[in-house]
Amino acid sequence: MDVNKIREDFPILNRTMCQKPLIYFDNSATTLKPDCVIQTITNYYTYLGANAHRGDYEMSGQVDAQFEGARKIAQKFINARYPEEIVFTSGSTMGLNEICIMLTSQYLKDGDAVLTCQSEHASSILPWMKASKKIELQYIPLDSHGKITLENVKKALNDKVKVVCLAQVSNVLGYQTPIKEISELCHARNIILIVDGAQSTPHIKIDVQDLDVDFFVMSAHKMCGPTGVGILYGKKKYLDVLEPVFYGGESNARFDQCGHVLLKESPLKFESGTQPIEAVLGMGQAMKYIEEIGQDRIHAYEVELKRYFLDKIKDMNHIVVYNKDSECGIVTFNVMDHGKMIFAQDVASFLNTKGIAVRSGQHCAKLLPEVLNVNSTVRASFYFYNTKEEIDTFVEALKEVTLENCVNIFF
Ligand code: PMP
Repeated sequence: MDVNKIREDFPILNRTMCQKPLIYFDNSATTLKPDCVIQTITNYYTYLGANAHRGDYEMSGQVDAQFEGARKIAQKFINARYPEEIVFTSGSTMGLNEICIMLTSQYLKDGDAVLTCQSEHASSILPWMKASKKIELQYIPLDSHGKITLENVKKALNDKVKVVCLAQVSNVLGYQTPIKEISELCHARNIILIVDGAQSTPHIKIDVQDLDVDFFVMSAHKMCGPTGVGILYGKKKYLDVLEPVFYGGESNARFDQCGHVLLKESPLKFESGTQPIEAVLGMGQAMKYIEEIGQDRIHAYEVELKRYFLDKIKDMNHIVVYNKDSECGIVTFNVMDHGKMIFAQDVASFLNTKGIAVRSGQHCAKLLPEVLNVNSTVRASFYFYNTKEEIDTFVEALKEVTLENCVNIFF
């Protein structure tokens, strides 16, 4: 992979932060955008402009073709059987909320259980906690590394569980969940499996048919696409019968004064109102871009960067890494000074002065600190446009992180 060539695709990599060349290691929060995605968005506003599925003129027809073209790209990207199984959303959070609301109101009963785990993102857990019915949340015990094991899933399954809702890759530790095996266990018990693909789609090839998941969500911004757009995949047999959460323009075929409403078929019945058209087109472009580079190469390179980093810090005993063995580009750690842990946000603020962007805190997975036994962590997340030279600078900066240096940060 020619990383220097790839970096030319990302205009933002020419900027500085705190007067230093930008080193962007916050890719699990959101990724940078290549020129082709930026151009696709600009192109829509410059030359296309019309709404989708509404006009009878040439320009709107061109928008329709590109909009539905993006759906086909997304279908291929996750290998869905039908384009009708791809619903555009504003991202993973919206997708997870919509699935939860639809299942709670139309399928689950008071007292039914949803199985999740403590490493899940707020967007995956909170909808169930706030659901309109009393849904019992049960948690798969994580192993001592914070990992989901198949053994623990098997032990956790019981007759009350009607839905299993898990991330394919954890946003804090980067462990991969054995989704295919879990799907077999679920379907043997008639349990619906929902997979949060926010952190897996940017890094590994997704095949929803092979994984045999019932629902799957992702966010474009985590894989070089625009913010505010993503997809909700649902098996056709579910999307055909589920009532949507939102009602409005373009989702209905007709309605009358007496309240008789005839909805369109999926996916349009789930896409009421004007969609973020430029973002949908940008997402399609981002998917093409990721596929051209190749998810296998992306993943292998991220793992290589992580190993390179771990090797460079192997003698720096003041850095405690919580996820050495996870095969991904995420390093979650804390820095110690004479046995005292330096507050993660102070470490992140110090790194900022060196032009290095990382995330600190609980990373929206607020139940995980109990498992790791630590209140907050620093997360550096690498992507395919990062380099070993950037990691060298990062390691040099980490050598300077002390309690005293962190107290004396002036921007
Ligand atoms: N799930 C996971 C695992 C995530 O990492 C994120 C984003 N941090 C989300 C869900 C929510 O994604 P979005 O903010 O794009 O809706």
